[in-house]
Amino acid sequence: MIRPGSTLGILGGGQLGRMIAMAAAELGLKTHIYAPDENSPAFDVAGEVTVAPYEDEAALVRFAKAVDVVTYEFENVPSETAAILSAHTRLAPNAQALAVSQDRFLEKSFIAGLGIAIAPFAAFADETELAAALDRIGRPAVLKTRRFGYDGKGQVMIRPETDHVAAWNEVGRASSIIEGFVPFEREVSVVAARSASGAFAAYDLCANEHRHHILDTTRVPAGVSAGTEEQAMRIARSIADALDYVGVLAVEMFLVTEGGNERLVVNEIAPRVHNSGHWTLGGAVTSQFEQHVRAVCGWPLGKASRLGLVEMTNLIGHDADEWERILAEPGAHLHLYGKTEARPGRKMGHVTRVFPEGA
Ligand code: AMP
Repeated sequence: MIRPGSTLGILGGGQLGRMIAMAAAELGLKTHIYAPDENSPAFDVAGEVTVAPYEDEAALVRFAKAVDVVTYEFENVPSETAAILSAHTRLAPNAQALAVSQDRFLEKSFIAGLGIAIAPFAAFADETELAAALDRIGRPAVLKTRRFGYDGKGQVMIRPETDHVAAWNEVGRASSIIEGFVPFEREVSVVAARSASGAFAAYDLCANEHRHHILDTTRVPAGVSAGTEEQAMRIARSIADALDYVGVLAVEMFLVTEGGNERLVVNEIAPRVHNSGHWTLGGAVTSQFEQHVRAVCGWPLGKASRLGLVEMTNLIGHDADEWERILAEPGAHLHLYGKTEARPGRKMGHVTRVFPEGA
């Protein structure tokens, strides 16, 4: 049993780790953050830090022994790292959630195995198999690396005229999949939490708009039909149950509209707190960060209800230079991540606006 005063270990020192650590502190927990970069933004708010590579076994064992439970803020935690930590302490979410979400082929096979709609996909090992996969799936299609893809990286559109071998060369001929293009109307996500006892609490469906492949704005509610909203929640729950998941997860989906009917197609799972859930900080009764801490500590989940109509906008690169103007705006919740250098495409902060329902 984790009690206030215990120590939560967090792998990863970015803004997600930072916001998890702040939520943990509110509940009387100490935090210890493990990250390879000594300039990690989460270090500003942690009681203890370890600066070491994720492959440093001795440092991982020391870290595991110094904390009561370990969680993480990114899905690319190496499997060996997860195994070392699990041997000495409790890791939540579990290693299976990491394994499944790190590899697009395993991820899509797992989701399809649950009977959930996804885009047609195929793995391939050489140019002949690539051509055969494209023939089967049809164009347009998307070539995606199996591992380490995010925010549109490791991904190439294959249009009718695209040379498929050149597309594969573009990702360095990395192990990849071909996926059917989904003519979606909108991108939506479910952010939800599952506790060790199997309790489940989902936030309302989020509608996400991207700019240059990076999340720009999340709006909640998503404005879909009640049936679609329910189906999205059922999908997220069945994924969480199948993984025996503990913590917050996000399920990204495409909303397809055909002849006035809505249909959901799952794109991917993030086994962690998620950018499309940032609105819950100030926009919901319990933030996703608090909810994650509650779940990984084995505590009761909080209520996931919305506090109004919510809009969250990311502050990317120099957007964050607007901080004074945002602070002067009544009711805007400004969150800055303490990053010193505003590189293009870098997430520097976000702003959440909550409007009264029905106004
Ligand atoms: P991902 O890295 O899989 O999240 O993909 C990044 C973005 O590329 C998504 O948010 C979509 O906008 C787009 N995308 C990915 N896969 C597909 C697909 N199969 N069909 C259409 N658009 C896609």
